[in-house]
Amino acid sequence: MAKLTAAQLKKFKGMLVQYLQHLGVTLEHMEEAVLRAEVDASPEDGDEFGNGSNTREFEIGLIENEGVILQEVREALERIESKKYGQCLHCNEMIPLGRLEVLPYARFCLEHQRLHELGQLELD
Ligand SMILES: [Zn+2]
Repeated sequence: MAKLTAAQLKKFKGMLVQYLQHLGVTLEHMEEAVLRAEVDASPEDGDEFGNGSNTREFEIGLIENEGVILQEVREALERIESKKYGQCLHCNEMIPLGRLEVLPYARFCLEHQRLHELGQLELD
């Protein structure tokens, strides 16, 4: 597949920035927000809620998820800057456009996303 055009890149960049706004983060404060999300997600001292607290696990899951998405959106924006956006991080093949439209911060092609989720993808 051909490389993305400037217009397409611009569109995806717009979508990524929208994600950030959705998460309440501006581009200028992105670094800060990523750091904060990482701190928030770190385990707290003590375990007063016990291991079986569904609510707590749910909350932690949300925070972690938000931090992960922030990180992935940030990396996607960096890839736009470095002209690597839209390529699978593993095989460098272009990620299908339809996939990017659903998931503009996608890092892998479908095949490698699947392997990644199975924990079978080794990244250097
Ligand atoms: Zn791939």
